[in-house]
Amino acid sequence: MPDEHVVLLDELDATARAGCDVAIVANPQPDDLRTLPNLKWVHSVWAGVERLVADLGDTELNIVRLIDPRLAETMAEAVLAWTLYLHRDMPRYARQQAARQWLAHDCVRAEDRTVSLLGLGALGAAAAAKLHTAGFQVCGWSRTRKALPDVDCHAGSDELMAMLARTDILVCLLPLTPQTRHIVDAQAIGALRAQASLINFARGPIVDDAALRAALDTGHLSHAVLDVFDREPLPEEAWQWTHPSVTVLPHISAPTDRRTAAAIVAANMRRYRLSGVMPATVDREAGY
Ligand code: NAP
Repeated sequence: MPDEHVVLLDELDATARAGCDVAIVANPQPDDLRTLPNLKWVHSVWAGVERLVADLGDTELNIVRLIDPRLAETMAEAVLAWTLYLHRDMPRYARQQAARQWLAHDCVRAEDRTVSLLGLGALGAAAAAKLHTAGFQVCGWSRTRKALPDVDCHAGSDELMAMLARTDILVCLLPLTPQTRHIVDAQAIGALRAQASLINFARGPIVDDAALRAALDTGHLSHAVLDVFDREPLPEEAWQWTHPSVTVLPHISAPTDRRTAAAIVAANMRRYRLSGVMPATVDREAGY
C-alpha cells in the first residue's frame, strides 16, 4: 500500500492517533481501538468477527470482515476432505486396526449420502459446490432463501428440522450470533438420521457440547469432527481429546492466507481512498 502510512498502534502519540481513519486488525484489544477518536472503520483479517462485534457493541464503528475466495476454496477443500473421512468410515477402520481386526463393512455410494450445510454464505456455498462435484446429495440452510445450483436450499427455522431429518453428515458453517449459539442442540441432533456425523468448522458455541457428547455416547451420532471449541486452545482435561468418536483439530480448517488477505485489504483500502465507498460492513443487528 505505497499510498498509505501504515504504522503500529504503539508507535503513535495522541496527535497521530487522531489522524487514523482506518484500523486493520486481527485480535485487537477493544480499548486500543477506543484510543483512535476519528476511526471510521475497522478491517478484520478474519472471516468470523463475533468477538469484534461484541467488543465494539457500544460503538458506531463500521466493521469489515475478510471475504476471500481463496479462504472459501480452502474451507471447501477441508469440508470435502473430512466428509470423505466420515463417508468412507475412516474412524472405524482406524479403531479396527488398533484392535488388529480384519472386518469389511458395506461401502455406501456418495449419491446415497446426504450432506447438509448449516450456513450458505461465502464458505458454505463454496463447500456445497465441491460436495456436489464429489457426488453427494447436498442440502443447505440459511436465514434468507438461497438459490444455488444442485443444492436443496432451506431457509428459516421452520425448514431446519425437515432438512436435518434427511441428513447423514451435518457441516456447520454458520457465524456465531445470539441466534446461532447452541443452535445445534439436543433437539437438532436428535432430528438427524441415526448414526449421522457432525463436522463443526464454524465456532464452538454453535454446538451444545453436552448434547453432542450424549448423542455420541448413545451412538445416535457416530462421529464428530471438531475444529472449533468453546475454549481454544482446547483445555487438556476436555472430554473431546479422548472420546473415541471425536476427531479434534486445532482450528485449522481454513486459516487466513496472508498473501491473498493482504491483497484484499489493500484493494479495499484503495477503493475507499479513490471513491469514498467502504466495503460491505457487518450488519450489527444480525451480528454477522
Ligand atoms: P457468511 O458469508 O456471513 O455466511 C453465513 C451464513 O450463515 C449465511 O448463509 C447466513 O444466512 C447464515 N446464517 C447466519 N445466521 C443464521 C441464522 N440465524 N439462521 C440460519 N442461517 C444463518 O460467513 P462465511 O464467510 O461463510 O463464514 C461462516 C463462519 O465460518 C464465520 O463466521 C467463521 O465463524 C467461520 N470460519 C471458520 C474458520 C476455521 O478455520 N474454522 C475459518 C473461517 C471462517 P444468509 O445467507 O441468509 O445471510
